[in-house]
Amino acid sequence: MLWFTELYSGEGMELKATGLTIRAEEAKRVKTPYQELLLLKTQDWGKVLVLDGAVQTTERDEFIYHEMIVHPAAFTFTREIERVLIIGGGDGGTVREVLKHQPKEVELVEIDREVVEVAKRELPQIAGKLSDERVKIVFTDGREFVKGKEEIYDLIIVDCSDPIGPSKVLYQEDFYRDCFKALKEDGIFITQSESPFAQNRVHKKVVKELQKVFPITRPYLAFIPTYPSGMWSFTIGSKRLDPLGVPPSALGKLYKELTEREGELKYYNPEIHYGAFAIPNFVYREE
Ligand code: SAM
Repeated sequence: MLWFTELYSGEGMELKATGLTIRAEEAKRVKTPYQELLLLKTQDWGKVLVLDGAVQTTERDEFIYHEMIVHPAAFTFTREIERVLIIGGGDGGTVREVLKHQPKEVELVEIDREVVEVAKRELPQIAGKLSDERVKIVFTDGREFVKGKEEIYDLIIVDCSDPIGPSKVLYQEDFYRDCFKALKEDGIFITQSESPFAQNRVHKKVVKELQKVFPITRPYLAFIPTYPSGMWSFTIGSKRLDPLGVPPSALGKLYKELTEREGELKYYNPEIHYGAFAIPNFVYREE
């Protein structure tokens, strides 16, 4: 029996694997030009994508992360969403959730082509919408891609890995400033912002940097079993629209329209929309 272990600081998580599926012609981990990629079949979590030793997404709990990185910001728009930029997100889960809001165009800027190819081949439940005609995939560094862009996007979603390797440049103030410029006058930025419990220092740094750039900054929580400590966060930076300013009646109507058209969501709902922004005292208490 094979066990996969992810270690982070002084703790870790073990998944019982029932087999290693990477690529038929290779019986070892894949070293892409950017990171080490591993795709596991596991007993309890379905297939699992691992980058540089960190679990990125599992078939069993991916819906939590992908619904929560998209819907709190997307439902803040009470108008049509036209153009969305996703940086990272090569497994396709964020694209799948964004398309439920019927945007005109989604640009996915993923640095590692291998991630998209493996996801398309091995994770159809997550990557299935990557070939949608509204989706344009650009294989480049999202940091470079956003430089010089002005007032183009309604939503920019940074669906990146931990601040090691190629993702490091996506956790910096100058990157956030470039994203600010690339957003329309009422545009919204979202990034995954690590675990307020297991990575409190990194989380607080992301929030602090975003507060220097956006007039409205709102961290919020979701509980993702296969991420360090299970307590996970995302942070919204907004130019004008406040996710907590959406009237419940308007949100209820938009939510009903979307779920009647696209099917039930498995995690996000109007109560979660407001409740997710409630943050426990310890998170921002000065050490
Ligand atoms: N959707 C995943 C989840 O559920 O947690 C998040 C991880 S997703 C696989 C992270 C992606 O960000 C990886 O595919 C990685 O190649 C990509 N990435 C890292 N740094 C990047 C950069 N600078 N520009 C574009 N993509 C980047």
